[in-house]
Amino acid sequence: MDGPVFTWRRFPALLALASSCVTSSVASPTPQESTTNSSFWPQSCCDALRSSLGSKVSLPNSSAYNASISSYWAQQETLIHPACVVSPTSARDVSAALKVLVPRRCKFAVRGGGHGAVAGIANIQDGVTIDLRGLNSITVSSDRKTVAVGGGQKWASVYAKLQPLGLAASGGRNGPVGVGGSTLGGGFGYFSTQVGFACDNVARFEVVLANGDIVTASPTSNANLWKALRGGGANFGIVTQFVLNTFPLGSIWAGDAYFSPEALEAQTQALYSLTANPNFDVNTGLVVNYAFSPSTGPIITNQYVYAQPIINPPTFQAFTSSPGQLMNSTSVTTLAAFSAAQEPISPNGFQQVTFSSLFKNDLQMLRDLWNIYTASTQNVAAVTGIQWSLSLEPVVPAIAAQSSARGGNVLGLSIPQEGLIMVLLTATFSSASDYPTVQTAADQLLANIIQAAKSKGVYAPYVDMNHAGKSQDPIATYGAANQAFLKAVARQYDPTGVFQALMPGGFKV
Ligand SMILES: Cc1cc2nc3c(=O)[nH]c(=O)nc-3n(C[C@H](O)[C@H](O)[C@H](O)COP(=O)(O)OP(=O)(O)OC[C@H]3O[C@@H](n4cnc5c(N)ncnc54)[C@H](O)[C@@H]3O)c2cc1C
Repeated sequence: MDGPVFTWRRFPALLALASSCVTSSVASPTPQESTTNSSFWPQSCCDALRSSLGSKVSLPNSSAYNASISSYWAQQETLIHPACVVSPTSARDVSAALKVLVPRRCKFAVRGGGHGAVAGIANIQDGVTIDLRGLNSITVSSDRKTVAVGGGQKWASVYAKLQPLGLAASGGRNGPVGVGGSTLGGGFGYFSTQVGFACDNVARFEVVLANGDIVTASPTSNANLWKALRGGGANFGIVTQFVLNTFPLGSIWAGDAYFSPEALEAQTQALYSLTANPNFDVNTGLVVNYAFSPSTGPIITNQYVYAQPIINPPTFQAFTSSPGQLMNSTSVTTLAAFSAAQEPISPNGFQQVTFSSLFKNDLQMLRDLWNIYTASTQNVAAVTGIQWSLSLEPVVPAIAAQSSARGGNVLGLSIPQEGLIMVLLTATFSSASDYPTVQTAADQLLANIIQAAKSKGVYAPYVDMNHAGKSQDPIATYGAANQAFLKAVARQYDPTGVFQALMPGGFKV
């Protein structure tokens, strides 16, 4: 089939992300709003850091500083200018940095892969940004059951290391996404139905605490910290190493297929039935996207991944046989190649607005969702460069079973037999001047989705941290017991609340 000629190329990568109008949890200062409010001037924080860490601290206008600041995914993050960037290469460096910053009450941000979509999540105006990308080791254990990954690595490198060994790890779908942020926020990937979320597969964390101590968190050492880090975000310490379980994976069948709205009813029924299937095939990884740009109008762009080299397996045939297919790029490939290929189709440097929501799998809700979505496109159609993508991801009971088999997490996701549908907005556009228009449209769309789900009795309050919008409060949706547990663990390991007060970026307990 002929490939499309216009901007559809970018849509399949718009798999993720989100923002909303709910409660406030993330501290996400715009450059204008940001304040260091510390008892030391930012410059003296940087001077003290330089005394301790020398050339690992870079100042504005240096090449190291510029390389760090310009390499975030979201344009919003690149517009934030810290007083200095510290680039540790070991846990001891991270410890040394915190021993300088914390007693001086210097405000700081922690940057992993830099793929967060919220301004200020991993960068800080006039503060100190700790850029972890120098923590980039990847070591496979001798029994090949685990891989130890530095806290600043990206999934593409992990998959590339494991691929020749016939192995993989549960992680993000796009290669450039950071292991750090995505794992601490849960980590829903292609193979979650087979092996659980990324966070479920962390056998051991190496963590630098607020006081500079370097500790191990595992089922046998600081077990409550280990559990809290499985979805609790950056509230407890800086993770300098993730020891991840591996699983066997050879070649896969994967790719994208685009459909005109003619396919809608067939696609909707296929999504409902696949998600509700009591015999769900756990090799299945699926994302259905509703995608809009002014040049294409609304279309449907599916991403299929099957964990075996089987072309068009039965699990996807209700999708692949539906009318209105415009393009199909599926092939037998590898996870390493497929995830790396996502990088150019979801490029750095654009403004981003995101949100996350969830509802019970319901045919009428799915039918109404398309209408709610297409109506929302009118609010952004005039925005320069807009790509307005709503991703729908099946959340099936097999995932919960895998999570609990691996020691559980703090996400509090209860998955009914008929499954859930996770909904993620990714709005990508060119100019900061359009931000208010896009954010308002996103807020309205989220409110309409929630209202429709509530009116049908299918609303599920869970918000995925990795795709949450700046005003959403994911941890508040994990359930009262998990929230209380996370607060208690934060108090135990960080009694003065450094990772909330001095590190304002990220979603807080
Ligand atoms: C194109 C794209 C595709 C995506 N696909 C997926 C997907 O398939 N599945 C999924 O679950 N999510 C996905 N995401 C969302 C992604 O998981 C989140 O944006 C995540 O926060 C990115 O992590 P990062 O380390 O790259 O980001 P950063 O912006 O660097 O960090 C995000 C947060 O994590 C903290 N953090 C990062 N590393 C550490 C560390 N080592 N120790 C302590 N704190 C740390 C930061 O301080 C910050 O608060 C995708 C995002 C994009 C842009």
